Amino acid sequence: MPPSTFPAVWTERHRLHDPGGEVWVGVPIPGTEVVARGDLIHQALAAAGFEIVVPDVHPPSSLRRVHDQAMVDYLRTAYDDWVAAGYPQDPGQDRVVPYVFPLPQAVADRPFRLPTAPSARAGVYTTDTTTLIGPGTFAAAAAAADCALTAARMVLGGAPAVYAACRPPGHHAGRAFFGGSCYLNNAALAAQALRDGGVDRVAVIDLDAHHGNGTQDIFYDRADVLYASVHVDPGAGWFPHFVGYADEVGRGPGEGANHNRPVAPGCGDPPWLAAVADLCAAATAQRAGALVVSLGVDGAAGDPESPLGISPDGFRRAAESLAHLRLPTVFVQEGGYDLGRLGGLVVGTLEAFAAAGGRP
Ligand SMILES: [Zn+2]
Repeated sequence: MPPSTFPAVWTERHRLHDPGGEVWVGVPIPGTEVVARGDLIHQALAAAGFEIVVPDVHPPSSLRRVHDQAMVDYLRTAYDDWVAAGYPQDPGQDRVVPYVFPLPQAVADRPFRLPTAPSARAGVYTTDTTTLIGPGTFAAAAAAADCALTAARMVLGGAPAVYAACRPPGHHAGRAFFGGSCYLNNAALAAQALRDGGVDRVAVIDLDAHHGNGTQDIFYDRADVLYASVHVDPGAGWFPHFVGYADEVGRGPGEGANHNRPVAPGCGDPPWLAAVADLCAAATAQRAGALVVSLGVDGAAGDPESPLGISPDGFRRAAESLAHLRLPTVFVQEGGYDLGRLGGLVVGTLEAFAAAGGRP
């Protein structure tokens, strides 16, 4: 490997997931979480000389460490149930799309009843109508989880840093919900695997343009996994809308171990990098023994999914701040939707981390 690289875990199984677009405000749109993303990242890694590692295959039970078993079972069977119910023919929808949601204020204090109709079951675990399930969605999501778990295993085995090229992304998937183009939480699985492997305290730093509401949910009550995120202010009208505010600091034993740093649309590099420095300081204060980076690059200028306007140099500088933590590090791919720049942004960030000596 060239000196400015480290191993990258990638699998072609990501191609099994073709969401076939999104339904946004009731309108089918092409969507941006497309198959090409995974291949463009792979091409850029290979061209830069990263060693490409094939992930181990983990049993479905490994997902239980951070996810509700019933949700995992749902994801595994939803597409087949949808097809068996005939929706691809009538009304002509070949992806699983919800139309009703069991809002807590509508069903609270009553026994939960799983709906009989697959069309209604589609609303039980997802937060939105933009995260469709197709024939290979669960297989690809499980393969992305395999990438993250393999990267964690390699770091536990002594690798200073490993990148997991996860697709679909994961940080909007919580213990018992999925959404925002995410199904299984790859970063949370990696963090839990590091804990299970003997690391006392793990820090998850999330650079994706959007708040990782799923990762926050999974670790909100825990002090052993810090969650620290910089993201576009949900109060300015951005996904995930309902959470991601600065006053969400964790609960019970986890109070003080959740750090949200919302930044304004169009903020550009300086405020974003100041927030990244805050997140790194939080990881240091927690005395973290290992780091998971949710590496979304959708904050980049020109990305269709965010208004932050971060420059490639901004991502490199953020990587240098992370490297200075001197922690064993698992990078997990999250968003990044500017297909012309995606591969370069990811590789540039990882190379900057390696060049800054991002190793213990
Ligand atoms: Zn994002």
